[in-house]
Amino acid sequence: MQEKKCMNCNASMDLDYWDTVEEQEDGSFLIDVFEAWVCLNKCGYFERVE
Ligand SMILES: [Zn+2]
Repeated sequence: MQEKKCMNCNASMDLDYWDTVEEQEDGSFLIDVFEAWVCLNKCGYFERVE
């Protein structure tokens, strides 16, 4: 498996699922779930996998 380092804190990253929640103008929420490299140090950095 490819080794990846966090661009923010240089910790290891793991392939996981990440979700973002966006509030729409009408007050509803749009939830987006996707595969991403996520920082194991939980600094909040992630890289979306295309
Ligand atoms: Zn990090």
